Order: sequence, then C-alpha cells, then structure tokens
Amino acid sequence: MNRQPHTIYDSGDGSGRSGAPFVRLLGLSKAYQEGDRQRVVLQNASAEFHRGEFVALLGRSGSGKSTLLNVVSGIDRPDGGQVWIGGQELTGMSERDRTLFRRRHIGFVFQFFNLIPTLTVMENVTLPVELNGASPKAARQQAEPLLHAVGLLERAGAYPDKLSGGEQQRIAIARALVHDPQLVLADEPTGNLDEDTGESVLALLDRLTRQAGKNLLMVTHSPESATWSDRVYHLRDGKLELDPAAKPGFTTASARKGPAPVRLETAHFAAGGHGPQGDGEAGR
Ligand code: ADP
Ligand code: MG
Repeated sequence: MNRQPHTIYDSGDGSGRSGAPFVRLLGLSKAYQEGDRQRVVLQNASAEFHRGEFVALLGRSGSGKSTLLNVVSGIDRPDGGQVWIGGQELTGMSERDRTLFRRRHIGFVFQFFNLIPTLTVMENVTLPVELNGASPKAARQQAEPLLHAVGLLERAGAYPDKLSGGEQQRIAIARALVHDPQLVLADEPTGNLDEDTGESVLALLDRLTRQAGKNLLMVTHSPESATWSDRVYHLRDGKLELDPAAKPGFTTASARKGPAPVRLETAHFAAGGHGPQGDGEAGR
C-alpha cells in the first residue's frame, strides 16, 4: 500500500483488540538537567495500547506523567526510545511533521482546561479544525454536534469565564475531539473539579472516546479515577508497570460499560473529509 505521510492505520478487524497495538512506547528515556545534576524522569518506559482502549496512567506528583504525555504527543522528544502511533514513528519525524501529526490525530484535555479566554465557546472549539485548514463554516459544522454532545451548544456564544469549571472542561473535551482524533490524551482532567463534577466529566470522556472507538490515555494520581479505564499503568522510577489487578476484562470499566455502548454520531465525522485521517480508517 502506498501510505501517505501521517496516515494512521486501522487494525482492520473493527474491534481494535487484535492485531498490532495502536500505540507503542518502546524504551523511552528522558532526563532534565538540574544545575550540574541530571534528573532522570523516564528510564526505559515501555507500554502498548490497543485501538479503542482507555488506559489510565497513575503516578505520584513529579513522577513524570506530564513528561510522558508530552513525549507521546511529540511535543517533547525523548532522549532515547521510540513512540509509534498507528504505524507511524513520531520519534522519527521532524518537529514540523510531529506538529502536523498531532493536529490531525491527537486531542488534549488539561487539568486547568486551557481555554482561550478571549474566544467564545464556539471559537475555542472550532480552533483546532481551522488550524487544520477548514473554513469557519465547516469548522462550525464539526463543532456543533460536539457542543451538543457535551450539553453546551446553547452556550456557544459565551466566554469561558462565564462557565463553571465542569462546563469549561466539557468545552475542552469538545475541543479535544472536534478534529476527530483517534488518540485523546488527558492530563489530570478532573484534578481541578469537585468529586461529583469530576465523575460526570469522566463519564463524558469515556462515552466520547472509548465508547466511540477512540483511544484515551488519561494521567491521574487518583486510583478512583483509574477505575474507569480498561488498563492501568503505574509510572514508578521512570518505568511503566502494568497493574496486574487491572487487566482488560477485569476492571470496573467493564461493569460500567453496560450492555449497549452509546456511540457518538460518527457518520458526521466520517463525512468530514478533513485530511488523511479518513484514509485507512474504514470500519470505525
Ligand atoms: P508529573 O506530571 O508526574 O507531576 P512531570 O512530568 O511534570 O511530573 O515532572 C517530572 C519531573 O521532571 C519533576 O521533577 C519536574 O520538576 C521535572 N521537570 C518537568 N519538566 C521539566 C523541564 N522542562 N525542565 C526541567 N525539569 C522538568
Ligand atoms: Mg503533571
């Protein structure tokens, strides 16, 4: 197959649970210089995530969770090791190509929402697709179903500071998903929310990612939040250790799934035709 640059593959069987892993982290290492000493943050960290999985990454504050997410997304380069996403090696790309790849295939949710205060809710959500070259009208057409899905379409004209923390995070989730990325990275997405609001944000994230066939990699220091995931990795001493008690099929995520997964209206996204993520991803 003549694969276009940045085209990510589909594992082919629709389930995503067999075949090649969707994300592979191979022997990642990263150290920061601290004065005249080196602070080792990642040391031979390896993991594999299959298509459609919700993976939680648990670790204490300062253990390197955000560093790892930045390396996975290609924002930051590891000192050693490889990051593969959908058959593409990010660590082998130029910075420009990593940026293009990220804009097409990765969405982010942050602890402090990171909405742009001078843009309306709608403008915040349309920004990622406009950066990908969509017209303002096409961008709005992509944003509307997501704002509806997060229950905030009627607030489209508001500015972020008029919204509660939970509402801001729901907008941030819409923004993370508007360009239809296969991989969503969330860095402590409930860390700034009260418990009930945090639970509802997790439920929404789960519904719009894992239940829509996307990958969610969520960093958290909360074991309770991690129970939403299919698998749990612990980041300890720079290494990723799979939690033996949280193997696929054994987690509370399965119990929470219920019999009939809710699907986002993917037909809309399939018709989006913005960039190469439509290629090779049939059967989503
Ligand atoms: P976590 O997200 O788990 O709290 P981080 O990945 O933010 O941890 O940080 C891990 C360690 O690396 C911390 O000791 C932090 O101070 C250090 N660190 C992170 N980013 C940088 C940087 N840009 N320069 C120097 N040290 C950093
Ligand atoms: Mg962090």
